[in-house]
Amino acid sequence: MAPLKILICGGGCAGPSLAFWLARAGHRVTIVERFPALRASGAQIDIRAQGIEVVKRMGLIDVVRSKVVDEAGMSMVDANNTPKATVLANKTGKGAQTVTSEFEIMRGDLVRILYDATKDDVDYIFGVTVERFEQYEDHVEVHFSDGRTDTFDLLVGADGQGSRIRKAIQPADAPEPYRRLGMYMFYWFVPRAEMDTNLAKAYHCPGGRVVMSRSHSPTEAQAYFAFRDESEETRSILKGSVEQQKEFVTQKFRGAGWQTDRFLEGLKTTENFYCQEIVQVRTDTWYKNRVVLLGDAGYCPSPLSGMGTTAGFFGAYVLAGEINRNSEDLPQAFANYEKTLRPFIDEIQVFNKSFLRCMFPDTQWGVSIMHFIMGTICFLRIPELVARFSSEERGGWKLPDFSSSVQDQQV
Ligand SMILES: Cc1cc2nc3c(=O)[nH]c(=O)nc-3n(C[C@H](O)[C@H](O)[C@H](O)COP(=O)(O)OP(=O)(O)OC[C@H]3O[C@@H](n4cnc5c(N)ncnc54)[C@H](O)[C@@H]3O)c2cc1C
Repeated sequence: MAPLKILICGGGCAGPSLAFWLARAGHRVTIVERFPALRASGAQIDIRAQGIEVVKRMGLIDVVRSKVVDEAGMSMVDANNTPKATVLANKTGKGAQTVTSEFEIMRGDLVRILYDATKDDVDYIFGVTVERFEQYEDHVEVHFSDGRTDTFDLLVGADGQGSRIRKAIQPADAPEPYRRLGMYMFYWFVPRAEMDTNLAKAYHCPGGRVVMSRSHSPTEAQAYFAFRDESEETRSILKGSVEQQKEFVTQKFRGAGWQTDRFLEGLKTTENFYCQEIVQVRTDTWYKNRVVLLGDAGYCPSPLSGMGTTAGFFGAYVLAGEINRNSEDLPQAFANYEKTLRPFIDEIQVFNKSFLRCMFPDTQWGVSIMHFIMGTICFLRIPELVARFSSEERGGWKLPDFSSSVQDQQV
């Protein structure tokens, strides 16, 4: 196999995972990340199902385990902090994960782990992006934002859900790639208080709103404020300044009860603030000639699925395997990648929007009914039992066997 010269646009989770496998197979890999430094920020993310097996094959499971957040499970609480329903994590090492994965990790920690595992073999260029590119029969010519031009055998768009590489390869008349789930999420870090334990807590209040807390360190906790909303007006808030976004969420939640006012106080001084519309990315094709999409850029399943990082790991593993197998015929490699991965992505993107109406009710009466139903289900330990006796792999899809290629032989 002749080594290829490969450019990955996006140094989040999926891009460096792909770089890991490609560099091991001897390819020359460059990652451009538009952020001026390693973007090791974000809140808690989880690795589940096939993602755990990929991390094991990367040989990184111990270092990931050393950084996992100690989260015992998640409780729904009322305004007095009284638990109404609690789902514990499945830490038996068998079966599937519950709402709290055995591998909850701060995004920043995972990004750093992936960077450390690749930085000696991969060229990272920060503060630079792909301005435009042209495809030729045997190469891609890339023009960077710093004025340089270079040629590569292939270009990978791993630039997240708002991917510019995706926009560049989609036909002009392609349908909008976002499936909007009608929900927004704002999150930030606050100083940890005595009541913050290793149980994540969710407080539902009328108006389709929920306030969640999770604790990841002895000094800090994470506050999540989410709500159902389909209006165009709210979407425009995401284009406003951080101050406008903070003011919006303050107005939306002030006086909602439980820990809301404490978290809103912390919002004034937090240095970690992020907000997003909850969307899925769905496109008809993930590649065009020598340019291919990976992770959220091609198939974001939304944070509500808990599968975004896993999809990135699984996708990176399959894409690298197919590139190694078909390095002389990249369109074939990409077609195989899409054929193998799409059934898995279709499954994790199954999402019934009416489920959100049930889980985030409009009225206090609705919240009480939801608590009663969830309390009964959790009292019977149904979520833990279902997880314990489910297959670890989502949908039963096994990771493909690339043992005949260089990929798995060196691990
Ligand atoms: C700052 C941040 C915080 C996040 N926090 C959470 C969270 O708390 N919970 C959660 O479930 N998910 C979060 N996510 C999303 C989560 O990381 C992904 O869903 C998942 O890990 C899949 O990873 P990905 O690499 O495909 O996308 P991402 O992790 O989003 O990585 C994409 C990378 O591409 C870079 N990029 C974007 N545009 C360009 C460009 N034009 N040129 C070059 N580089 C570009 C971004 O800066 C980022 O580093 C966050 C993402 C980011 C970027």
